[in-house]
Amino acid sequence: MKTRKDFCSFCGGRVAETYIEKEHQIRRLCLQCEKINRDNPVLVAGVIVIRDGKILLARRAEEPACGKWNYPKGHVELGETVERAAVREVTEEIGVSPELFGLLGVFSYPASPVINIAYAGTVRSELTRDAAEVSELAWFSKADIPWDSLAFEDDVEALKQICARPDFGLTVTA
Ligand SMILES: [Zn+2]
Repeated sequence: MKTRKDFCSFCGGRVAETYIEKEHQIRRLCLQCEKINRDNPVLVAGVIVIRDGKILLARRAEEPACGKWNYPKGHVELGETVERAAVREVTEEIGVSPELFGLLGVFSYPASPVINIAYAGTVRSELTRDAAEVSELAWFSKADIPWDSLAFEDDVEALKQICARPDFGLTVTA
């Protein structure tokens, strides 16, 4: 994933790789406003939705990991809270606004620019639609989770955690 930019995020000026004495690092320094432009991680937020003891998963219709399953999630936009982003992204994918019960965990990996923030929640009404980026939505009991067909490392970790944590009042049934 390409996250580096040639232009300053603050003023739009040109940036150049420059050694920054006090940080002992080469950083991308703006030649115009002299601010350091950092390669920030990408934030993704989502919700593991549980209802009647089953977990909702979405089958991806887009690369990366097209055809694999993940819990509904998407990018956090500037200017919104992480909780809002999680609810918005999930609503876009399933057509129903989820109710959040709490933070399940934060999942990050040294080789990935993405930091995943997963909430646990539920829905009170029927799912109304599939978004274009999702080819199928389905409910899985613990025994049916498609471990070999999960899209990302954080899907595996987050699902393992939710199965081991009945403290949200959302027990995943076998
Ligand atoms: Zn600048």
